[in-house]
Amino acid sequence: MGYAGECNGCGKCCIGTTWNPNEQKLVTVYCENLILADTPGKSQATLCAVHKTRKLGMKVMFYTGDGSGSYQGQCLSIYPRTQDAVPPECSYQWNSKDKQPRWSIGYAPSLGNLISEIY
Ligand code: SF4
Repeated sequence: MGYAGECNGCGKCCIGTTWNPNEQKLVTVYCENLILADTPGKSQATLCAVHKTRKLGMKVMFYTGDGSGSYQGQCLSIYPRTQDAVPPECSYQWNSKDKQPRWSIGYAPSLGNLISEIY
């Protein structure tokens, strides 16, 4: 058993941090399907526009907030799996005697770096 609970819509798992080689800096990227109702990280701050039809591994684009960059990613619709970390704002509770995976700034489960481990 890994995580228990329900999503609070903080949106952090559909937002990533990645390296922009043109600007030589880390940038925040947002899934094209993420609807921001409030500041990400707050409870119920976001919605997924395709929540009912999303699929594991579905290709999605991630964009920087100012639109200057775009990145291909994949939806990890079954997040969080036992091997996933969750952000501090997440409402899922770790429910295992095993060590919980740790979240960090570069951790981006929606960007496909973890999903590539499945396929
Ligand atoms: S498509 Fe997937 S990654 Fe994009 S907002 Fe919806 S749940 Fe998040």
